[in-house]
Amino acid sequence: MSHRFSNVGLRLPLLAPLLALPLLFAFGCKRAEAPFLFIDRLTEENVAASPLKTASPPADSKATGREWPESMLTTAVVLDTSFGKNPWSLEKTLVLGPDVFPVLLAPPPTEFRYRLKIPLRSVLRFGCGLYAENKQDGAEDTVFEIKLEDVPGPGRIFEESINLDKVQSLHRVVLREVDLSAWAGKTVTIVFQTRAAGFSGPKDLRAFSQENGLAFWIDPLLVPRREAGKAADAPPNIILISIDTLRADHLSLYGYRLPTSPAAERLAGDGVLFTSCFSGAPYTLASHATMLTGLNPARHQTLYMADGIPPAVPTIAEILRRAGYETAAFTGGGQLNAKYGFAKGFGLYNERAGGNQLLNSAANVRRNAALWLEARKASKFFLFLHAYQPHNPYRSPEFPERALFLRDDMPWKRVSLQDVLGIGFPHLFRSLTPRERENMTALYDVEIRTVDRYLIGPLVEDLKRLGLYENALIILAADHGEEFFDHGAWEHGHTLYNELIRVPLVIKLPRSREAGRRVHEDVGLIDLVPTILAEAGVAAPPSGFDGVSLCPLFKGEKLPGRMLTSFLPAGFVYDFPSRVAVLRRPYKLVLNGEFLPGFREYFTPPPPERIPIELYDLAADPMEKNNLANRKAAVVRELLPVAEAYLKAAMERTGRRELVVDKKLEEELRSLGYLR
Ligand SMILES: [Zn+2]
Repeated sequence: MSHRFSNVGLRLPLLAPLLALPLLFAFGCKRAEAPFLFIDRLTEENVAASPLKTASPPADSKATGREWPESMLTTAVVLDTSFGKNPWSLEKTLVLGPDVFPVLLAPPPTEFRYRLKIPLRSVLRFGCGLYAENKQDGAEDTVFEIKLEDVPGPGRIFEESINLDKVQSLHRVVLREVDLSAWAGKTVTIVFQTRAAGFSGPKDLRAFSQENGLAFWIDPLLVPRREAGKAADAPPNIILISIDTLRADHLSLYGYRLPTSPAAERLAGDGVLFTSCFSGAPYTLASHATMLTGLNPARHQTLYMADGIPPAVPTIAEILRRAGYETAAFTGGGQLNAKYGFAKGFGLYNERAGGNQLLNSAANVRRNAALWLEARKASKFFLFLHAYQPHNPYRSPEFPERALFLRDDMPWKRVSLQDVLGIGFPHLFRSLTPRERENMTALYDVEIRTVDRYLIGPLVEDLKRLGLYENALIILAADHGEEFFDHGAWEHGHTLYNELIRVPLVIKLPRSREAGRRVHEDVGLIDLVPTILAEAGVAAPPSGFDGVSLCPLFKGEKLPGRMLTSFLPAGFVYDFPSRVAVLRRPYKLVLNGEFLPGFREYFTPPPPERIPIELYDLAADPMEKNNLANRKAAVVRELLPVAEAYLKAAMERTGRRELVVDKKLEEELRSLGYLR
């Protein structure tokens, strides 16, 4: 994996220029709203004392203190990304249960010192805590202290003793906020200290941390509060909601025959509705990586479960954090696990909402988000929410509106596709009876209404109650859809038909600009990052994006003509072949890779024979039933090379899957006149 990261690193310009952008960090000048990020600003000079300092020069990367118990520094710690310097590897990404956050390691005695000017209305927001590898009874206190130097009077602003004695879990964390308004305009030194209580004189500090837990500070930030009443001119807060496995055409928002999405309709009434938004991939991992980087899967290379977003590829959270946004995510984990790089740039990345098995993951996401938002009324923030609710299994909680979808005579009240199609889906291509299909679809629709009722509606109400709705940029989207035998199978991740790649997109702009506008042009999730940055007035990183800003469409203008792509890499699920779709109105071409030997035999009944090239006229044939590939040679000749080039680029970078456009197919295409 590491060599592939470095390959990507070579292709993409490093982000040092971004870090150097003085605008983003200007402190006490025009952009007074930018918080001071202590972790990102750490240099050797800030580290006045630390047992992790060694005789060797400070590291820029992954060196760990050799003398220190290595395991303590690596267990529960993800060595994630770090921009620029990371002296003595004191910056870490810490995974504690469902919470992932950036920390500064601070085994006692550690002292970090920062000299800076306190802006108006500032709040120091931070956490501190301990974690241990093994349960230790009789653990002793570690004292955490923050003080201001060069100020009149006692400068201590925080002191707390923490220990792991009688704590059930192996860690303990406290989160705090201290108002610094009293020192506004003063230049001070802020000192973060840890010390071992009950120790004096020389001691074995490594043994102390092993016995009592390793100390850390969680993402200290000096946050300027927004002035009441001035929020209207301020850069918008940004909330991105991704509902997993939500196909657009099952939302009443898009004209579905049942009332699946009343709250989403109300949100769209205040925003811009995109009727033709496409996903870059028909599965969670790659699609979200596209949504959060603005790059197509061939470029971000987050394709397989062994991959992660490469450190050199900036995510929207990283870009916004460096532009002064507080960042947090509440997700369902799974393919959005922090280990795939999704936690990069988030001050808090939480996976407490659970995976796809919970009855009400949508409500969990909203509850966690509400608690976080409550403390951010005066902040500038980016919040990313993700819920697996409509994902298989289709298990929603009981609520009255279920009856609108689920008739009494339907046998399944909840269902798991594994129960019906077998573990590993050997019966993926089973047609089921019409009654069973109807039941399956009804259960999925209930899940959509669950999201609408427990997440979208209450979240909007929370934002209104907190006074955050008006100025917020709110984006509602989904990573991919779900198949209900539209093209002879179930679930997702196997094909690129529109039931899997056409997703909902609502963008509610600050002050509900352009409320009620409908945009019919083809756009992609790939366009979200450039659009967010344009709306927030934040510069794009030098590495650029594959997507484009949708802002011209908000004003009724057109985008320059372009082709959108969607991609399924070979073997992501079982032995499904790679597929590439190229969209250029009104046509959609799909290039399908070869089946591996034995692929069809795995299934009972087997899947249909492979069709190398499909071409649909989406205007005349939105259900994609009428393959025109043999009749529209000129269109195929134009779109096929785009698909092939995409596949070649994706596979070259992956470096481990054979190209699926083999000699045989090439001859076949040539004889049909598709290749010259
Ligand atoms: Zn998904």
